[in-house]
Amino acid sequence: MTRPRGPESRRRRIRRALPWIGVYVALVTAPLFVMLLGPSPPGRGFWWEFSTALGFSAAVMMGIQFVLTARFRRASAPFGADILYAFHRYLGVVAGAIVFAHWAILRIRSPETLVPVDPLRAPFHLTAGRLSLLLLAAILATSLWRRKFRLEYERWRLFHLLMSVLALVLALVHIEGAAYHLTTPLKRIIWTAYGFCWLLLVVHVRVLKPWGQIRKPYRVASVRPEGDRTWTVEVRPEGHGGLRFEPGQFAWVTFRASPFRFREHPFSFSSSAERKGSLEFTIKELGDFTQTVKDLRPGEPAYVDGPYGLFTIDRHPDAPGFVLVAGGVGIAPIASMLRTMRDRGDRRPVYLFYGSPRAEGAPFREEISRLPAEMNLTFVHVLEHGPAGGAEETGYVDRAILERRLPGDRREFEYFLCGPDAMRDAVEAALLALGVPPEQIHEELFEWV
Ligand SMILES: Cc1cc2nc3c(=O)[nH]c(=O)nc-3n(C[C@H](O)[C@H](O)[C@H](O)COP(=O)(O)OP(=O)(O)OC[C@H]3O[C@@H](n4cnc5c(N)ncnc54)[C@H](O)[C@@H]3O)c2cc1C
Repeated sequence: MTRPRGPESRRRRIRRALPWIGVYVALVTAPLFVMLLGPSPPGRGFWWEFSTALGFSAAVMMGIQFVLTARFRRASAPFGADILYAFHRYLGVVAGAIVFAHWAILRIRSPETLVPVDPLRAPFHLTAGRLSLLLLAAILATSLWRRKFRLEYERWRLFHLLMSVLALVLALVHIEGAAYHLTTPLKRIIWTAYGFCWLLLVVHVRVLKPWGQIRKPYRVASVRPEGDRTWTVEVRPEGHGGLRFEPGQFAWVTFRASPFRFREHPFSFSSSAERKGSLEFTIKELGDFTQTVKDLRPGEPAYVDGPYGLFTIDRHPDAPGFVLVAGGVGIAPIASMLRTMRDRGDRRPVYLFYGSPRAEGAPFREEISRLPAEMNLTFVHVLEHGPAGGAEETGYVDRAILERRLPGDRREFEYFLCGPDAMRDAVEAALLALGVPPEQIHEELFEWV
């Protein structure tokens, strides 16, 4: 779900990403400099050449779209996967607008370049360009208004991928065919290699990566109810050592299906990062896929692509303590943080504010209630409908509760928020009002698009 106003921590991460925008602009404009190498054909007037430049840059932008969602751990490390997906979305719109401008300028200023329209008579590169433009329009419409069109997420994702690959290939064919500026063999080689790189990237993400997962399979070991429409699935590596993660991180998980079918969903690890031999994910029933989780049976195959994410206490080894705020199934990564600290014998102070509709059915409530005996944890369960007193508060996690329960040195702590948008926004505003420096507030979003 998109919101009109991004949270402060998100805006900060976007600012951190600004130098990368320079790299992006360099990549997008690179083909234009290649065209200036060596002899150039005679100019065809400003608007025609401008439109051509737009076309080249838009093709590169279309290629870079695949990098943004390629899940390269290093690429997402500085700012987080959710920011990359947000950029992917915005830049998709910009690339679409540029391709449209490329066509519209020619349509208005040099309409003779666009005839014939009939695909049976038109040169193939013209038809390829037109098809690419139409596909881009379809990609944008189905992405921006997916919910309005009532498109099921997984189906949309598969078509999104197929249409995007086709649109890029057609755009490259269009450029190769038009070829006016690819006059020398060197220019043609550079451009072809550039286009080829983008296609190789698609192969890497959609063929080599799933293949890597096939070679490191997991099996479902158990599925247990964890509370209100919430289930914990334990998976064990089969024939390999599994993976290591940091508490709070997430993975892309596929159950039952082959990774080549792109049925993976992102879930946070809820088990301790110190636990060897198995991983756990705690999943709330929400839609088509998550409703099937309770039907998983021991022995069924699973594939885990991860770990990913910056939402982890391990990035703050010098923090004097932590404040964790969870709502609903947002407790999953927080549970991993708590369990890991317990298993490591970490005695730093931790304050947990956990918002639930009521005490019954709140995932991990029993286990967390026992943790203060094993670690330096203050647990405040904030119940929407419930009695106040002791470890409980009534209502929502708000400024008054935070002020009442947090110690005087709260500005020193690192804060981790995971839960519904409204909760995270309200808690973030309250923390800022209480003087917590914004760079110490970290958030995990469970819905990126
Ligand atoms: C970083 C991260 C960590 C998450 N951790 C947890 C967790 O620990 N426990 C938990 O219960 N949920 C978690 N989620 C949310 C979980 O991924 C979605 O609830 C789930 O994918 C919904 O799938 P569905 O088909 O059941 O629901 P649908 O109704 O089909 O989808 C609901 C929404 O979930 C998102 N979504 C659906 N499928 C995908 C997909 N394949 N990839 C990305 N987004 C998708 C879309 O925004 C969609 O609109 C996490 C999400 C993210 C991004």
